Amino acid sequence: MSTSAAVTSQIDRLSPTAREFVEAAPHGLLIANQWGSGNGSEFQTEDPSTGAPICAVAAADPADVDRAVAAAREAFDNGPWTTMAPAERAMLINKLADLIEQDTETLAELEALDNGKPLVMAKIVDVPTAVRHLRYFAGWATKLEGRTIPVTTPNMFVYTRREPVGVCAQIIPWNFPLMMAAWKLAPALAAGCTLVLKPAEQTPLTAIRIGQLAVKAGFPPGVINIVNGDGATGAALVDHPDVDKIAFTGSTAVGREIGKKAGEQLKRVTLELGGKSPNIICDDADLKAAIRGSFQGIYFNTGQACNAGSRLFVHSSVYDEVTSKIAEMADGAGVGASLAEGTQFGPVVSARQFETVNGFIQSGFEEGATAAAGGPAERADDDGYFIRPTLFTDVKPNMKIVREEIFGPVLVASKFDEIEEVAAAANDNPYGLAAGVWTRDIGRAHRLASLLRSGMVYINAWGMADPAAPFGGVKASGIGREMGGENLDAYLETKTVWTNLG
Ligand code: ADP
Repeated sequence: MSTSAAVTSQIDRLSPTAREFVEAAPHGLLIANQWGSGNGSEFQTEDPSTGAPICAVAAADPADVDRAVAAAREAFDNGPWTTMAPAERAMLINKLADLIEQDTETLAELEALDNGKPLVMAKIVDVPTAVRHLRYFAGWATKLEGRTIPVTTPNMFVYTRREPVGVCAQIIPWNFPLMMAAWKLAPALAAGCTLVLKPAEQTPLTAIRIGQLAVKAGFPPGVINIVNGDGATGAALVDHPDVDKIAFTGSTAVGREIGKKAGEQLKRVTLELGGKSPNIICDDADLKAAIRGSFQGIYFNTGQACNAGSRLFVHSSVYDEVTSKIAEMADGAGVGASLAEGTQFGPVVSARQFETVNGFIQSGFEEGATAAAGGPAERADDDGYFIRPTLFTDVKPNMKIVREEIFGPVLVASKFDEIEEVAAAANDNPYGLAAGVWTRDIGRAHRLASLLRSGMVYINAWGMADPAAPFGGVKASGIGREMGGENLDAYLETKTVWTNLG
């Protein structure tokens, strides 16, 4: 199957509920449980499968951001949220999870329409993952325990309290809009923080829908605020003096800027950034599983995943077999519109992303790489942003396509012979998010797991995630972890209390 024919609009394919949501536009900003148009300016969100506009959304300017932060501050300092029993907080988070689950069909349709991912993926991956995430963190709300500390000074009782960090600015990207919203909301709410969430300007719809469900769930005003807009809105949020913590997922370039500002202002910060993750297939691997896993590892979500396995290293004895099989699968992949039957991979998210990814593909050819599958994409004005899964073989370490994050369906493959050699090649990159090893030799697997400089290693698997398992990277891939107890720590401060027992 090749790239599908262009469709003029996918809105006709929506169910009545999803369509009603789209037609209720323009969608507003959520501040203190009220939806409003803010300063009145708007932007259009677009369907990447067609390039057609979907609907208008209000854009927040600095004054709107100021009102949203003030609402979050008021809810944190004087609202019922901070004094609410942890069990009640847990109930509200669980209620939101239930409402999201009940809304699976609509949320999945909106996610597919706005982001371009196949509807079936949104339904079986994105929505259930968001629900599980909220439920996992709801459980933490009642378990935020301090410690008693045996100090040297006599007659002193010393204990610690785990307190919410305060007002959080949460800025998320467009590749998994709903999941990213849940990754941010869940730990902040469990910790007792209040927040202002800014979805990506390319994909605001599911966060707005979650905002509607949060109001319905009964969160007090100001606990969850949502402001839409582009980088300028994000920057206003980062700069706001009343924000205590920033949680950002996005590009390394913007992450660096946010990290710098957070450093100057001494705000707490976590940054989940880019990746160029190595995926190593050894000669003794279960090749069928390795090929299938590596194919999905890069092309899942059209390569638009921070932990995509974008650098493939294959032992020279199995290199030809692995690359020819991946190329064959790439050639046969069903690339098409997100709401069309049988679509396996959707478009990339925007015209800008289309240009960027195509630019990388062109540079690969210019630098002498060979494409075993895919290649540069052409696009008519009324078509979506489709790029076929592309595989470059026998690439050189200094090529741009090997060094830089592409964030699209492009895999680069090279050969290796020795474990130490491949570990060094895998580590020779600014990023350090994920890494993969395919082997039946348990010693080799764990030796590589210890040699690879990354926040996560997958052995005989790729892209596994669970709300209980920390997710994040080292080096240019960021600071801090999403998920697990580590993520909760990022939303808590430790207060040490000394009591003189006389
Ligand atoms: P991409 O280039 O893939 O769109 P970005 O890092 O630019 O990734 O975007 C991720 C998120 O960060 C989006 O919500 C975007 O609006 C926001 N953003 C972009 N620039 C800034 C900035 N300077 N300050 C704060 N947020 C920003």
